[in-house]
Amino acid sequence: MRTRSELRDALGASGRPIGVVPTMGWLHEGHRALVRRAREENATTVATIFINPRQFNESADYTKYPRDETRDLAICEEEQVDLVFMPPVEEVYPPGFDTTVSIGAVARPLEGAARPGHFDGVATVVAILLNLVRADHAYFGQKDAQQVMVIRQMARDLAIATEVVSCPTVRDPDGLALSSRNVHLGPVERAAAPVLHRALRAARSAWEAGERDAGIIRETMRTVLEREPLANPEYVSVADGTTLTELDRIVGPALASLAVRIGTTRLIDNEVLG
Ligand code: AMP
Repeated sequence: MRTRSELRDALGASGRPIGVVPTMGWLHEGHRALVRRAREENATTVATIFINPRQFNESADYTKYPRDETRDLAICEEEQVDLVFMPPVEEVYPPGFDTTVSIGAVARPLEGAARPGHFDGVATVVAILLNLVRADHAYFGQKDAQQVMVIRQMARDLAIATEVVSCPTVRDPDGLALSSRNVHLGPVERAAAPVLHRALRAARSAWEAGERDAGIIRETMRTVLEREPLANPEYVSVADGTTLTELDRIVGPALASLAVRIGTTRLIDNEVLG
């Protein structure tokens, strides 16, 4: 389906519950895992493929974002997705569109601080997609942990009835979290990229050994990252698992997360502690 009205017609003939998997395409095993989960839990599975211009804070990132409709549709077919909604930009943002959904505190630190406007773009497009699909369940990846929290907050505050489901991060065997942007990594950069996961594993080991000083855990991650010359950390965080405020001491559930540039490619990853 390319248009809102085509989508509406197709949904009218579809069984409930409906599960939706919003994506920006260039589908990989992480997306497939979300689709499989949606298929298990719903009568109808909808995938959306839309590279949302409003969530890119760097125009180069938007223009070079990988695109391959034919390949994506083949993957959706293999995974037995029932409906694929791949609208052009003007179908999502028609002429005269002039609304921004802006989420408060949980959207401000980490990705929100590093990428101004990013979560406004995400919240706005997801609100539109959830309203168009009126799904019972929407599936998102834990790889983008803050995004899940932002969308949960948005759905709760705007009385969107869709239940937000978070799914585990799918990784390559060497630990690198799958991401459409990994395609931009050259071979040497690709070899360096698992350092994010190694840093997070070191954080987890320290936490499991009883370390509760968040500063020491951040330092542990930085030390691992420093040993990889191609890694340029943007932030290294140990934050409260509910509010995402940076912690001094870990008492309840915490989120260790990082954003690292490997060459020009920006990668993020995280690990829940507790
Ligand atoms: P994207 O196409 O990158 O916007 O991602 C679409 C959805 O897939 C988001 O909910 C992501 O969090 C999720 N996702 C991306 N990469 C992974 C991964 N490696 N494992 C699990 N989910 C992922």
